[in-house]
Amino acid sequence: MPKRTTEPDERRPRRRRGRWLMLAGAAILPEIGALRRRGYGFGGNVIVRCRQGHLFTTIWIPGGSLKALRFGPWRLQRCPVGPHWSLVAPVRASELTEEQRLAAREVRDLRVP
Ligand SMILES: [Zn+2]
Repeated sequence: MPKRTTEPDERRPRRRRGRWLMLAGAAILPEIGALRRRGYGFGGNVIVRCRQGHLFTTIWIPGGSLKALRFGPWRLQRCPVGPHWSLVAPVRASELTEEQRLAAREVRDLRVP
């Protein structure tokens, strides 16, 4: 007759997931803040400016990025205008002239987040 154990089956720590969610939240909050301050809500198609002043449109989703290294409101990614690698940050569309906005909308990088 097999010995019955009183040991509970679930011994894996359950708190792990909560902690990871908190870390992920802390990591994307500055991004969400930066996007919201510039009027982009939770991201999507965002006009960004690189360190050399080039403007272009990119898909910016807080916490989700395949083509960029993120540093809070900054990202390191390929600027299609340069073309070069640069830090880019979202710009407020209302701060741009109509001409700049149109130019920025014309230039898009890869259509992946
Ligand atoms: Zn550039």
